[in-house]
Amino acid sequence: MSNSKRKKILLVALGGNALINKKEQGTIAQQFKNLRVPVRQLARLAEQYTIIITHGNGPQVGNLMLQQEHCKSVPGLPLEILVAQTQGQIGYMIESTLDSELMKLDRHHRLHLVSLISYVVVDENDPAFTRPTKPIGPCFTREQAQNLPYPVHQTAKGYRRVVASPAPITIVEKREIKRLVEQDFIVICCGGGGIPVTREKRTFTGVDAVIDKDLASVCLAMEVGVNIFLIATDVPGAALNFAKPGQRFLRKVTAARAQSYLAAGHFEAGSMAPKMEAAIKFRQHGGERAIICSITDIDSAIKGTAGTEIT
Ligand code: ADP
Ligand code: MG
Repeated sequence: MSNSKRKKILLVALGGNALINKKEQGTIAQQFKNLRVPVRQLARLAEQYTIIITHGNGPQVGNLMLQQEHCKSVPGLPLEILVAQTQGQIGYMIESTLDSELMKLDRHHRLHLVSLISYVVVDENDPAFTRPTKPIGPCFTREQAQNLPYPVHQTAKGYRRVVASPAPITIVEKREIKRLVEQDFIVICCGGGGIPVTREKRTFTGVDAVIDKDLASVCLAMEVGVNIFLIATDVPGAALNFAKPGQRFLRKVTAARAQSYLAAGHFEAGSMAPKMEAAIKFRQHGGERAIICSITDIDSAIKGTAGTEIT
């Protein structure tokens, strides 16, 4: 058995905050700088684990949508194309940052990287399509919102476009990803939860929707046979009574207990709930370890001294 075959597979799902800090403007220089924090840790872990990196794209796709609103001199682009653009953009940023961190460790000779455009199949009859709930892109005034060609919801920040967030069924490129992983490639894929497509016989069609990146990541983790599933975000882990009196971050929690906390509403829909749901699912389907931690604590979370681990 070759050395690479013995390495465990670690899937790290990076939150959008790995690039854009909510308090910053989000220039490309800031995004590259922020990205070094998780990527430096991944470069070190790459010696011991075969790594798959998935990532969010919320702020980046939001910015592209804002650019669409302000430019009428070329044809507009549908959401599926914008998601594809962010996979290229963020994939490039992660790949080049990781490459330079591996070079610093003098490991780039042995490790190979690839960013993969990824589609994720959804069901056209998914109930999410009949009631879109996921706010995306820029905020509009009430007047502007009345003339938009798509559904909008009033949110705390203003009126925003809402799209369906259907459940991922399968990652179209799973075999390619598995092959690359077997050869110890570091694969960056499923960006922004993947490009949502429906399948009819042998044809895929892109749809206006966004897939939660944590749910797409667990789908990939199970299809590829990942050993460790780590979700890195901007909080130290999952908390009970989050942002309320009595807040308590969980360190180790069984899948059954996590499920009961989820049902009791401790984890917010659209942010911590899908992370918990994904982590529980991974453990229930035989995954070895599932951890939710801060992007600053990836190393320690792997060592078992930080984050929330679903046991
Ligand atoms: P990401 O881009 O990493 O997916 P999200 O914003 O979707 O980030 O999810 C992380 C956010 O979840 C945190 O910033 C926090 O505000 C929120 N959150 C909601 N409920 C909880 C909870 N119970 N424990 C911890 N964080 C929570
Ligand atoms: Mg999220």
